[in-house]
Amino acid sequence: MDPYPKTIVRLIDLLSDLPGIGRKSATRMAFYILHASRQYGDNLSDAIKAVKENLRLCKKCFNLSDDELCPICRSPKRDPHILCVVEDPNDLIAIEQTGAFHGLYHVLHGSIDPLQGMGPEKLKIEELFERLRHEPVSEIILATNPNASGTATALYLQKRLQPFNIKLTRLAQGIPVGGDIEFIDTQTLSASLRQRTEF
Ligand SMILES: [Zn+2]
Repeated sequence: MDPYPKTIVRLIDLLSDLPGIGRKSATRMAFYILHASRQYGDNLSDAIKAVKENLRLCKKCFNLSDDELCPICRSPKRDPHILCVVEDPNDLIAIEQTGAFHGLYHVLHGSIDPLQGMGPEKLKIEELFERLRHEPVSEIILATNPNASGTATALYLQKRLQPFNIKLTRLAQGIPVGGDIEFIDTQTLSASLRQRTEF
């Protein structure tokens, strides 16, 4: 028999569904919420509700957004000639945090993976072509993940993008900053040799 009252068991059950949260952590979180102020509890439940009710996809790049257009698409400082295509909003955030990219994005919301039933029609690919008909894009960075489905997606896009006559690039693969050559796997090391740059 569960020693806790049903109300708190319900909260523990829901919290332990979160990624990376085990039953023990969920119990600690539930008791933290129980002992916190009423205001904290209200704010937490409001924030969860707002995420579900107010957050939507930017109608241009499909990034997560509070408004019709996300802040990146709204910004006049971004270069509309260069488009970075990513699989997920988290990839966009990672690239954005480098501060090294000043163009616009397009979020596909997944990658082509026939074994998981993910065909190109389930991604925001037609929406990408639609954008290219109206926007002055001269370069597309295919920043999908360098794994099987990410590479399949990049190859698919490369084929479909040929008629547009746009420069296509892919993120370089190689040795991480602070890395040690003798410990790099062979595939990464050979990719970094192929993609070597002038010094
Ligand atoms: Zn946007």
